[in-house]
Amino acid sequence: MAADPAERGPTEEPEFDFVVVGSGAAGMTAALTAALRGLRTVVLEKTGYYGGSTARSGGGVWIPGGAPLRKAGVQDSPEQSSAYLEHVAGKDVPASLRVAFLTHGPAMLDLVLANTPLRLVWVPDYSDYYPEAPGGMAKGRSAEPGLFDASKLGTELARLNPPYLPAPAGVTVTQANYRWLSLGTSHPRAILTAARVTARMLRSKATGRRLLSLGQALTAGLRTGLLQANVPVWLSTPMTGLHVEDGGVTGVYVIRHGRPMLIRAARGVLLATGGFERNAEMRRRYQRAPIGVEWTVGSPGNTGDGIVAGEAAGGVPELMDDAWWGPSIPLTGGPYFCLAERSLPGCIFVNGAGERFVNEAAPYVDAVHAMYDRHTEDNPHIPCWMILDQRYRNRYVFAGLPPRKPLPRRWYSSGTVFRADSLTDLADQIGVAADGLAKTVQKFNEFARAGKDEDFGRGDSAYDHYYGDPNCKPNPNLAPLVQPPFYAIKIVPGDLGTKGGLRTDERARVLHADGTVIGGLYAAGNTSAMVMGRSYAGPGATIGPAMTFGYLAALDAAGALPAG
Ligand SMILES: Cc1cc2nc3c(=O)[nH]c(=O)nc-3n(C[C@H](O)[C@H](O)[C@H](O)COP(=O)(O)OP(=O)(O)OC[C@H]3O[C@@H](n4cnc5c(N)ncnc54)[C@H](O)[C@@H]3O)c2cc1C
Repeated sequence: MAADPAERGPTEEPEFDFVVVGSGAAGMTAALTAALRGLRTVVLEKTGYYGGSTARSGGGVWIPGGAPLRKAGVQDSPEQSSAYLEHVAGKDVPASLRVAFLTHGPAMLDLVLANTPLRLVWVPDYSDYYPEAPGGMAKGRSAEPGLFDASKLGTELARLNPPYLPAPAGVTVTQANYRWLSLGTSHPRAILTAARVTARMLRSKATGRRLLSLGQALTAGLRTGLLQANVPVWLSTPMTGLHVEDGGVTGVYVIRHGRPMLIRAARGVLLATGGFERNAEMRRRYQRAPIGVEWTVGSPGNTGDGIVAGEAAGGVPELMDDAWWGPSIPLTGGPYFCLAERSLPGCIFVNGAGERFVNEAAPYVDAVHAMYDRHTEDNPHIPCWMILDQRYRNRYVFAGLPPRKPLPRRWYSSGTVFRADSLTDLADQIGVAADGLAKTVQKFNEFARAGKDEDFGRGDSAYDHYYGDPNCKPNPNLAPLVQPPFYAIKIVPGDLGTKGGLRTDERARVLHADGTVIGGLYAAGNTSAMVMGRSYAGPGATIGPAMTFGYLAALDAAGALPAG
């Protein structure tokens, strides 16, 4: 990341007003905003595909008071969302950032929805992650993309970063579908949803019309907006450093068509290169052990380049030890990020002593914090083990596999999954204390029958219920583990990406350690220290802020925010 132009020998110097580095939610929203404000704008993308982790994601967008929620009649107020975010993000996050996010989020969405073919719809009842906290909402504040006709992208479709979990050909699943599909055939709504998804697939096959959902739809919508606004997206053009003059950033060094080049930026540069989840050295330097790059589902291009370049220009990295964690199964083809699986009744997580240590249905960041906080050599929590019984397997979808379907042999041969007819044999296989496991299951089964988890409160929160089984009484998250064979699934601390990055202000301007602004330099999304602090307010609470601070960076560069 050296910034010496002579060393790089730039041969051309194209100039734009606003240079956006990274083509995820933060970068594309910023580029669209800047272009609509009349700035000559370019998006630079390191890989051969646009969309980053955003394209791989669920596409959820958490914007309290946003148009999709108002349209669905979700009752909320600025006071309520402000109290909630203050509680969730806590003292690690300056109030000015929280206020900026909540104030400008709805206007950002209005701009995006008015200038792209993207549609966003409320995800019914997808609860905030802490609905019982002050201002929290069990009905949820999350929106997801409506189905998107892929033909709108034209030839650009071929360059859309692929999803994290490719669905079978022609099958399009939304977040709202996933909730019910995970219940297998155990609930009428699950069966109805499966029928709808199948009918959609048949229609799609018959008409040849390809539909996109989730992060694919979000990215496609933003990319189409950029096409309409004539914003170029330069793929395979990695930023290698920032051009700094008189302490301010005035350009970006890139490699383009194999040659080094300086791209000048008259009004500013936005670093939106995602996190550093794919950079092993940075992860080891900043994060708790054990850590590597093999447990993340973040996009391969996210190696912390923006954070490194911003630091070289005087920026300060913060929150670097944290991430958008989530308990994950280390499958041979790549990690599987567990969502509904943990909340469904009939499973528990245990440590090396065979004891539970967390509410398994807890928000995913909290579940992994518990793994790291409690991990010791004597009593390992990394990996921990998810224990479930055959009743669970008979009822629910597990890691994409339909109920009853045997788990693949390679999961067993790779040491990720074990099965035994008794809990004692299972404990022996996974090296967990057998007496501890037996006692834990006995106690948990009593809690399940009584409908109350006295130890960790699983099923107390409305969030837990979202992915629970409504037919499971008296508690939708609790069922005893009684029916052999029993299964043990290895669980590691995976993540959706990192959330630590450059310290920024309420206009997404990158700050020096003394709080002064680095001229011409902005950061948003996972390249910045995120407004959620160490927490995660609800589904979509990484993409919502990423888009909002990208939008604010562009408005500031365009001189469209009041002076301050
Ligand atoms: C499977 C999955 C599901 C998720 N679901 C959700 C969800 O539903 N809701 C939610 O809020 N969050 C979700 N997340 C997290 C969310 O996707 C990310 O936090 C968010 O998309 C990050 O956006 P971004 O713009 O910061 O970065 P990204 O979208 O990752 O984009 C960064 C881009 O910058 C590029 N880049 C990197 N270095 C350079 C360089 N040197 N030069 C040029 N370009 C560079 C990268 O290649 C990448 O394309 C999910 C993530 C995953 C992986």
